[in-house]
Amino acid sequence: MSVAHQLGLAELRAGLDSGSFSAEELARHFLERIAADRLNAFIDVRPELTLAQARAADARLAAKDRTPLLGIPLAHKDIFVTRGWRSTAGSRMLSDYVSPFDATVVTRLEAAGAVCLGKTNCDEFAMGSSTENSYFGPVLNPWDKAAIPGGSSGGSAAAVAAALAPIATGTDTGGSVRQPAAMCGITGIKPTYGRVSRYGMIAFASSLDQGGAFGRSARDCAQLLGAMTGFDERDSTSLERAPEDFAAVLDAPVSGSQPLRGLRIGIPAEFFGPGLAADVRAPIEAALGALEALGAECVPVSLPKTELAIPAYYVIAPAEASSNLSRFDGVRYGHRAADYGDLTDMYQRTRAEGFGAEVKRRILIGTYVLSHGYYDAYYLQAQKLRRLIAEDFRAAFGKVDIIAGPVSPTVAWNIGERTDDPVQNYLADIFTLPASLAGLPGISLPVGFGALGRPVGLQLIGNYFAEARLLEVAHRFQQGSDWHLRRPGE
Ligand code: GLN
Repeated sequence: MSVAHQLGLAELRAGLDSGSFSAEELARHFLERIAADRLNAFIDVRPELTLAQARAADARLAAKDRTPLLGIPLAHKDIFVTRGWRSTAGSRMLSDYVSPFDATVVTRLEAAGAVCLGKTNCDEFAMGSSTENSYFGPVLNPWDKAAIPGGSSGGSAAAVAAALAPIATGTDTGGSVRQPAAMCGITGIKPTYGRVSRYGMIAFASSLDQGGAFGRSARDCAQLLGAMTGFDERDSTSLERAPEDFAAVLDAPVSGSQPLRGLRIGIPAEFFGPGLAADVRAPIEAALGALEALGAECVPVSLPKTELAIPAYYVIAPAEASSNLSRFDGVRYGHRAADYGDLTDMYQRTRAEGFGAEVKRRILIGTYVLSHGYYDAYYLQAQKLRRLIAEDFRAAFGKVDIIAGPVSPTVAWNIGERTDDPVQNYLADIFTLPASLAGLPGISLPVGFGALGRPVGLQLIGNYFAEARLLEVAHRFQQGSDWHLRRPGE
């Protein structure tokens, strides 16, 4: 039991099925680790609820149920609403909120027998790249406690990296699964927009928000993502697509030493410009060399509109956020100011108290770009840029199967280093925003370390519905390397 937190899902499965440990023992082991956590990775932990789920899993195991995730512990980003645990979105506005229903992702994973360990810390309403914008305080990076873990799903990524949970859910609007995965040295995948239900995922920017999966390996991500995906009639943007067994694709036997023979990997010049730090570039290039050794061919491609992703995203995302967040009015949900005069005063005080600075900044920007007279100049222009960015990818995917590049231009920065300069944070999203705007799937996998021993992630972007291919390429890379097996010191 003492080393169970170091095991991957396949080994945990074997241990549960053979009776080496029960789901309850496994859950207790992780709960003990979480209780000793100094990273601030979790917002809400309720052992009695976790253990009830674990006992239910043990009953199913005893009845010879062999559902793949049965008895496997996991953590949910506190953007997915849950019955029982609080659902805060990292905000004071929802700091005491308990949802009367579960998000579809939560329902699906519970039905699959996974055991929820609790809710992980995140940037307020998923707005941020560092998890410093949480009402519950920043999360520390397990590799270097002076560093941010990335964001906005920083709690989930730190929890998996520190072995507080074997797998965790996240959400990615503009990079919030891929970037914290990269900065915490784990694997994270954001699927094609529409594959994972957004029902019960607290909305930030609805046309971009997408649930995703964290694990130490692509194999573990494949298993989690497989259980999360699927059509949901409660989400009008959910796609009707036959379910795929991603893990089975990875487990299929391959012959020869070049399993990636025939794979064309596009290398966009725009992702390797002067803005890319040398200590990130070196491990990325080494990883591309390793993929070539596995038989892949690297082909130069161009995504000329890459630079426009930042202005487009930082108009569209705040616009949608300003609309989505109008529901937090002190009447329907969450916090209400204690003292107020008339109704307008109640709204104003409630929102002034309930939202943090970054959320307010986005509401202001979003309201501005949607207002009469500015809509055409900003919002409409941004939508046109979004289309052009998607066109870039369409052209590139005419020539190559997947696209590779960095996730972040630098390794994790220090906590506090950029809090006074939001634009610095926005600029760091340059390599993750394009795929988000186009609705394409992307995966981040650990490929080495940069300055101060901080992790570096490689990003692979696929065409629509190419999740299985992305996971497979990452898996083949991981079969021949050990970056995903490295662990931070305690
Ligand atoms: N960093 C981006 C932002 O601040 C993306 C966040 C996300 O993907 N949720 O909006």
